[in-house]
Amino acid sequence: MKAGANQPRAERGLPTGGTSTVAFIGLGNMGGPMAANLVAAGVQVFGHDVMPQALDTARGHGVEVVTDPLEAVAEADVVLTMLPSGQHVISAYQDSPGLLSAAKPDTIFLDCSTINISEAQQAAQLAQQAGFRAADAPVSGGVVGAEAGTLAFMVGAAGEVFEQIHPLLDIMGARVVHCGGNGLGQAAKICNNMILGVSQIAVGEAFVLGEKLGLTHQALYDVVSKASGQCWALTTNCPVPGPVPNSPANRDYRPGFAGALMAKDLNLATNALDEQGVEAQLGRLATAIYSEFAAGDGAGQDFSAIINTIRDDSSHQGAPA
Ligand code: NAD
Repeated sequence: MKAGANQPRAERGLPTGGTSTVAFIGLGNMGGPMAANLVAAGVQVFGHDVMPQALDTARGHGVEVVTDPLEAVAEADVVLTMLPSGQHVISAYQDSPGLLSAAKPDTIFLDCSTINISEAQQAAQLAQQAGFRAADAPVSGGVVGAEAGTLAFMVGAAGEVFEQIHPLLDIMGARVVHCGGNGLGQAAKICNNMILGVSQIAVGEAFVLGEKLGLTHQALYDVVSKASGQCWALTTNCPVPGPVPNSPANRDYRPGFAGALMAKDLNLATNALDEQGVEAQLGRLATAIYSEFAAGDGAGQDFSAIINTIRDDSSHQGAPA
């Protein structure tokens, strides 16, 4: 739980009204701990999930669980969704009876799921057409960040909506960036993850090449981590055991950030590349590589395990005579 979460709200500059009651829809790996941090900070949270186990865990963290999501929404200043996909979000909003049918005036619909930019804009439009306000605020930082309250939020919303939700996001995160209007939070998220996917593959390729050339992992790490090849995929998520003791490679590639989620985010990026007509060879190649990775064992492994695919694919190839 986030340090200081038990301090009184006013002392920490948190809202005492307006955004103080949250309907939290989707209490999974991310939503569960995010909701728990809100409760610990004194926010009243009504939670709903379709999985009874998620409800039980949330109840244990002080979330007021409800089996009918409309009950939660009727009480809320903010309806926060943390769901697997854009289709889940849109159908939760509008399928009869959808969340939009039960909210009170002035409610803010805040979607923190990672979804297509066009779906985020559609969700916002649905909320606005029904008379409400809307924001997309996808996150990075994974389950560890959700538990610690150190997520990074990338927010797409009108300025006044951003100001209203900022204190809530501060409870669940360590960094909150206003990226622009509706959909631009998702835009920032998928641009970041396209860089990450490409760079994790590049780091894996460099280590496999280094192995073949006779470099130790540590020597390559010591050089690159202080040179122009330095990046998060190396210095935090180092794909070989040893140089960065906390990286997933040291625990048999347990995530971390699972290959299935990287494949999902890269496919969202590719959808945006197609929609915008951007020529991005590396982004598209990374999408293909991670889609194949996630279709097999990679789905449940940390995405840095892509190095093992690169090494396996290189094992039958010797140096030219
Ligand atoms: P998850 O599958 O653990 O949780 C999603 C929850 O939504 C599940 O508990 C599911 O039962 C529930 N759900 C589905 N449909 C529902 C509905 N109609 N009403 C109520 N509940 C419903 O997924 P997660 O890892 O928590 O990820 C949630 C979102 O966050 C995804 O969009 C994901 O891409 C994004 N994300 C995940 C991570 C990560 O590391 N796990 C990191 C950043 C972003």
